[in-house]
Amino acid sequence: MYELAVKSEFEAAHFIRNYPGKCARLHGHNWIVEAVAQGSELNELGILIDFKVLKSELNKILDEFDHQYLNELEMFTKKNPTAENLAKEIFDKLSVSEIFSGTTKLKAVKVYESPKSCVTYYPD
Ligand SMILES: [Zn+2]
Repeated sequence: MYELAVKSEFEAAHFIRNYPGKCARLHGHNWIVEAVAQGSELNELGILIDFKVLKSELNKILDEFDHQYLNELEMFTKKNPTAENLAKEIFDKLSVSEIFSGTTKLKAVKVYESPKSCVTYYPD
């Protein structure tokens, strides 16, 4: 089994509704997002999935979040734009990309709210 990952980032503002602390106030993060792909079969070049292709697909999704006020996005009008919820949103959008086929699939999405704080989402 092979596993590979690419990292990208976006900048956006949010606040956490009903949070008992500073995060209830509007603030921003430089969000770092890591997409982890997994598979057992390599192509004729010996590649699981091209880093460049995976990063490009990830960036298309992150463009939607970049320089946004996340609480105002449709998907976050009812649930909080936490790193957890962002990771699942990004996973759900990226996992259906046509770049995944055969045994190669998206394994997980990691969202770093800061360099030292990270959430990983993967399906059960
Ligand atoms: Zn925050």
